[in-house]
Amino acid sequence: MIYSLDTPIQNIKHIQPAYQKRLLKLGIKSLRDLFYHFPHRYDDFSKIIPISELKLNEVGTVQGRIARIKNIRTWRKKIYLTEAYVEDQTGVIKAVWFNQPYLAETLKQGSLVSLSGKVSFDKALYLSNPSYEKINKKVSAELRHTGRLVPVYPETAGLSSRYLRYLIQIFSPTISQLKDWLPLEIKKSQGLFDLGAAIRQIHFPTSMPTVARAKRRLAFEELFLIQLFVLQQKINWQKENSLKIEFDEPLIKNFVGQLPFKLTDAQRRAAWEILQDLQKTRPMNRLLEGDVGSGKTVVATIAALQTMNERWQVALMAPTEILAQQHWQNISNLFKNYNFAIGLLTGSDSRKNQQSKIAIFKKRELTEKIAKGEIDFVIGTHALIQENVKFKRLALVIFDEQHRFGVEQRAALQKNILEIEDGLKNTIPHLLSMTATPIPRTLALTIYGDLDISVLDEMPVGRQKIITKIVAPVRRQKTYNFIREEIKKGRQIFVICPRIEPSGKGQVTSDKNSSLNTNHFPLIPSRSWDEVKAVKEEYQKLSEKIFPDLKIAMLHGQLKSKEKDQIMQNFKNGQIDILVATSVVEVGIDIPNATVMMIEGAERFGLAQLHQFRGRVGRGLHQSYCFLFTESSAKNTAARLRALTTAKSGFELAEKDLEIRGPGEFFGTRQSGLPDLSMASLADVGLIKQARLEAIKLLQKDSILKNQPLLKEKLNQFQKTVHLE
Ligand code: ADP
Ligand code: MG
Repeated sequence: MIYSLDTPIQNIKHIQPAYQKRLLKLGIKSLRDLFYHFPHRYDDFSKIIPISELKLNEVGTVQGRIARIKNIRTWRKKIYLTEAYVEDQTGVIKAVWFNQPYLAETLKQGSLVSLSGKVSFDKALYLSNPSYEKINKKVSAELRHTGRLVPVYPETAGLSSRYLRYLIQIFSPTISQLKDWLPLEIKKSQGLFDLGAAIRQIHFPTSMPTVARAKRRLAFEELFLIQLFVLQQKINWQKENSLKIEFDEPLIKNFVGQLPFKLTDAQRRAAWEILQDLQKTRPMNRLLEGDVGSGKTVVATIAALQTMNERWQVALMAPTEILAQQHWQNISNLFKNYNFAIGLLTGSDSRKNQQSKIAIFKKRELTEKIAKGEIDFVIGTHALIQENVKFKRLALVIFDEQHRFGVEQRAALQKNILEIEDGLKNTIPHLLSMTATPIPRTLALTIYGDLDISVLDEMPVGRQKIITKIVAPVRRQKTYNFIREEIKKGRQIFVICPRIEPSGKGQVTSDKNSSLNTNHFPLIPSRSWDEVKAVKEEYQKLSEKIFPDLKIAMLHGQLKSKEKDQIMQNFKNGQIDILVATSVVEVGIDIPNATVMMIEGAERFGLAQLHQFRGRVGRGLHQSYCFLFTESSAKNTAARLRALTTAKSGFELAEKDLEIRGPGEFFGTRQSGLPDLSMASLADVGLIKQARLEAIKLLQKDSILKNQPLLKEKLNQFQKTVHLE
């Protein structure tokens, strides 16, 4: 009965079709998958206890002979009770099972059994639903479900851990076919189990410390693959050539000196790191991360200045038209004393600004100017790429709010960059991405491991502190009164809800078009959606009942992007008092007049995401407020939300999120494409560092894994199945 590891489950005759279906439901398509279906916990039934010594609540195993067994139909006539008396040399105990009448047939009177579970009490001690199996005279080695450490697996209807244990055991000889692709030196230096030994230990554990060692081996291998993958990407990127852009100190000093504010130390540091990168002939691939309002734009602008000063072109891509426009205005303003032509190219607009003189063009005219090199800095949406814009001498590309671009979009963008047609043969532009999404350390080391990262961990001085409050439901009316006062003073309000429609109307749940990559901020599935504030419902309530006299608008991902832009524009222009929105609102748009951020169902959002919502207000001169509403009375909800009132930065909150919710919820297992185990190890900085170290060592010796055919093959498979992020 030796099958190969990759034999499809459907071709294995020992498994009945009904079970084959259930296995497939668990994602188990082959024996290999079966062996990689890891237990989520172990029951320690290893203690074998004489019946007379059993104590209440004790967990362990009893071994003896069935003295009597019978089925009882309860008065409701629906539940079967199977009642057995088991005796050993020291005494007798009752065991009870529910709805498994066949047990009276399986465990006949006189048979030797092993029963494991927790001891309960009802008039006398008894075992409730113990795990059971028949034993031979020669006890020990054969035990599978009792009398040892017993693995408990993720299950599905009609497919129990008991069945999985059985299956894994009968096919266990096939485990020896697993090829161990981890290089021997690495196993040695890390003290890791062989693959086969680790897999065996996971399913047939001898002790918890040994299980831990097995897990470490399996977690290490995933992390190691991730590292090889990202480091190879980095190596490939660095094989390309870029233009060397010399640092011109007087130029930069002069520019910085003219700014209406003093740069923060963090901004200086980041600008310095970027300018260093630009001086290299290898292309930069740097991520500039910083909270909303930390001043990323001016840092990028410094890089652009240095680039344009040498007559090279710069492109900046923003995820929405309105954001592109805002950048164009701000950046044109920063360069008003310089003779640079700053172009704006979006789906609906094409113009340029040169020393405060604006010229409006047809799209064709502008793209021609870009191709001739007459535009120094092109700011746009991904129309920039879609329209197949050709540059004359593009040397720096900047992505703003890079997390807003989907994974595929971003991969396409990077590829596009490689293919951008310009006059500079054999070079590619330097790449700078910016994001306000805080990235916990462990992620910076793993799925972002191919990027160099600069962090703006400091806010410009004088920023007001936003007053943040968790509001009890009874104070809702008071909050509405407060809002009315603010609007009377001419201020504007955001109301954020976690959903588009009230439940029962259509299928939409969370807003898929949410501006944040929801992978990083999954909604917590702890409460039913029914109670969750829906944007449409809330909009109706506010506009009809609470504030019928005010101008209220609604923004969500079901709207077309033109409509969204229009609404944001109207809000920005002060034509709307209250904007009721889903998380789509979270783009880096500046609305200095907005002073209240009110968030419904706050427990549904990740802390870092809440922090970003809050960053939408407090951008002007007026004191601003963030009100968090929650209907959840769970203690930890309040504790979690309270972190928002104390944390100093989005990074701190992201780390906290990861810590509180664990990587599974933090990333969302399914979307991340990562296996469970490495998900868990994504919180383990120590192990991540070891894996990275080993990967670097190996690639330094053998960057294309020429001498590692097994590993190379494994890495190829990994790249095909895993979509990082
Ligand atoms: P973000 O990092 O969210 O993109 P921006 O670059 O839009 O932030 O900057 C937010 C605001 O802060 C802008 O109005 C910008 O001019 C201003 N700003 C940037 N740096 C400083 C600084 N060092 N001191 C004061 N204000 C600054
Ligand atoms: Mg920004």
